[in-house]
Amino acid sequence: MSDTPDWFTSGWPHVWLPYAQMQTVAPPLPVVGASGSRLQLADGRELVDGISSWWSTCHGYQHPHIVQAMQQQAGQLSHVMFAGLAHEQPYTLAQRLCAFTRMGLERVFFAESGSVAVEIAMKMALQYWRNKGESKRTKFIYFTNGYHGDTMGAMGISSDSDFKGAFSSLTLKNYQLDIPHDEYSFAEFADTVAAIRGQVAALIMEPLVQGAGGMKFHSADILSEIRRVCREQDILFIADEIATGFGRTGNLFACHEAAIEPDILCLGKALTGGHMPLAATLAKAHVFDAFLGDSYDKALMHGPTYMAHAIGCAAANASLDLWEQEPRLAQAEALEQKLWDGLKHLGDRPAVRDVRVKGAIGVLELDAPREAMLAMRAKAPELGAWLRPFGNTLYTTPPLNISDADLQVVLRAMEALTS
Ligand code: PMP
Repeated sequence: MSDTPDWFTSGWPHVWLPYAQMQTVAPPLPVVGASGSRLQLADGRELVDGISSWWSTCHGYQHPHIVQAMQQQAGQLSHVMFAGLAHEQPYTLAQRLCAFTRMGLERVFFAESGSVAVEIAMKMALQYWRNKGESKRTKFIYFTNGYHGDTMGAMGISSDSDFKGAFSSLTLKNYQLDIPHDEYSFAEFADTVAAIRGQVAALIMEPLVQGAGGMKFHSADILSEIRRVCREQDILFIADEIATGFGRTGNLFACHEAAIEPDILCLGKALTGGHMPLAATLAKAHVFDAFLGDSYDKALMHGPTYMAHAIGCAAANASLDLWEQEPRLAQAEALEQKLWDGLKHLGDRPAVRDVRVKGAIGVLELDAPREAMLAMRAKAPELGAWLRPFGNTLYTTPPLNISDADLQVVLRAMEALTS
């Protein structure tokens, strides 16, 4: 008897998968359940998820506290539109998020995905200047290897890559700069920003760790210097913490490590502990205040149908409870040493160009052709782990509360894949 469920066989000819050449893509593995850091496959196998479903399941799958909050909310009010009507979960979440992020942010605009949260941040920044009478400020500065999402606006502030190749003639033209790293490049960076500031609405970056652009790290000093230049040149600073937020870098937020406060902050992924699609764009009071006036002309004209989804916000509130009640941040911090202990010796291998670890992110940069990287995706499940190498990086971003035994499964798989 085949292990393949009927729903898979009948649905496969009709689904269109992400980032996939559908003619050649290997059929995905049917999953029938998940709990903690483990995925249950239809064929009876269990895999340890080494990448937390794209960095989102920070407390593991099906966390009972989050599931219970979602069930309770579903029984009471699944969702209601956010214009003209108010409901409890997003109102509670908005004020909790402003306090929890500890960056002096005062207003929260909810969305359903990280890319849309970035689009909203862009619209906020552009209209902020327009409302202040500086309508020539229509460009953004972003960094080489930066990635901020797949929607049209977000592609225009993401580094050139496979993700946006087909659309490069359509995306907005903005300023791509290299992240400065020494005195000379900082001077050059500051000069460039000074020269273009009259056209620039904001600089956007992923603080401390650039994810999809190759898992590149930079120091807190560099981050705070970049922030300082933005302040000096009076351009808005947008921190995209969609991937780095909620403990992933070993700090609650990457901005905390550099003791900086953005004007606008984007959150997503782990906001609901990976249980519901929800994202948020948070703004400082001075950004929000620029939208006040007598007419719609100055108002932020954006409003997704499922904005502030009640079950999503209930999941996010429950996730914040866990951050308050469980030693999640200590677990994220502890993962740094555990990942380093498990990966550092692989640096001696010919195929391994670099080993780096930051908080709960472990990265092997490899010297391997694309086919070999793709072959690793198929091989990892045979080793009991769910991993999804891309470009030339094999990485892990496990659930922050993963057990030591499950972490060993992931580390041993990474070791075997590079042997
Ligand atoms: N910004 C960053 C830094 C991300 O890593 C991602 C997702 N990979 C996004 C934005 C886009 O988020 P989403 O996939 O939820 O649209």
